[in-house]
Amino acid sequence: MERLTIQVGSYEVNCSIISENGKAWIVDPGHEGARIAALLEKKGLEPEAVLLTHAHFDHITGIAELQRLFPNLPVYIHSEDTVMFGHPFNQMPGEYASIGVPANIRDVNELKICEVIHTPGHTPGGVCYHFANDKLLLSGDTLFAGSIGRTDFPGGSMSKMMESLKKLMTLPDDTLVIPGHGSHTTIGREKTSNPYLV
Ligand SMILES: [Zn+2]
Ligand SMILES: [Zn+2]
Repeated sequence: MERLTIQVGSYEVNCSIISENGKAWIVDPGHEGARIAALLEKKGLEPEAVLLTHAHFDHITGIAELQRLFPNLPVYIHSEDTVMFGHPFNQMPGEYASIGVPANIRDVNELKICEVIHTPGHTPGGVCYHFANDKLLLSGDTLFAGSIGRTDFPGGSMSKMMESLKKLMTLPDDTLVIPGHGSHTTIGREKTSNPYLV
């Protein structure tokens, strides 16, 4: 398995491309769909699916361009977050104007390539993608290096967030964590230095 992470859009979402045997899974194509597609072509990768950690506008807007280029590209998401697609609160005029409801939405629990950990708190349907063999966690806006995701948006919950973080802290210490924004970290480092977890 290989991983490539780029920052997309003005919110600098970490968009990761996970690939194996020429196939690619695109995690959180928050913006710049054309740039992501160009990168896939350059690397000789065929997109299999989009995986979303949650449905906030800064993590999803690139889907429109990707599905224009790759019609019916599946979009995996937790069912409790699908209500946010096209919702008035979940957009920003201009760069992050609503993309509406994407085609071919799939239940993230049917995903086979990794473990899906339901981590509500930032949003009700937030998930983290755990690639156990590769000791990799894509943590979305649940866990950041030195911080945690906001819980004051619609559907947010601090008590659920703390339960979700507890689940993540059971993963091996040497698990590499790629958050939705900002620099990467490890579970071990967060356990000992994250002010919300120590
Ligand atoms: Zn978010
Ligand atoms: Zn975000």
